[in-house]
Amino acid sequence: MIDCIFCKIVAGAIPSKKVYEDDHLFAFHDIQPAAPVHVLIIPKAHVASLADCNASHLEDLGRILLAAPNIAAELGLSDGFRTIINTGKGGGQEVFHIHAHILGGAPLRPLVDCVALA
Ligand code: AMP
Ligand code: ZN
Repeated sequence: MIDCIFCKIVAGAIPSKKVYEDDHLFAFHDIQPAAPVHVLIIPKAHVASLADCNASHLEDLGRILLAAPNIAAELGLSDGFRTIINTGKGGGQEVFHIHAHILGGAPLRPLVDCVALA
């Protein structure tokens, strides 16, 4: 198995709090939630980041975006939610298996607070 923590979560080798699974996607609660609801949606097929995607990833990328509102609704985010995909070290990505963060459940800071630290 590829040495990837999220691939291991998909395989069940590392435990997670699963919220959704189908043939192509897996979603689970973030271990360090930044909001009352913070889940990660990942494709089961490993790809490191958005910058590594090509046309062969179109379907999984679409599936992630289409699953997001359904998973958010399941988790009670009737008022809306934020979707974030960090890409590469410069984008703040720490786990190199592409994932969409779904955040909500309380008022979120304006995105302007996401500007560079320095
Ligand atoms: P990113 O900075 O976009 O790569 O986000 C990686 C996210 O994965 C962070 O929010 C971490 O808290 C989360 N994370 C790392 N390890 C785990 C894990 N074992 N289970 C759940 N979430 C994790
Ligand atoms: Zn992986």
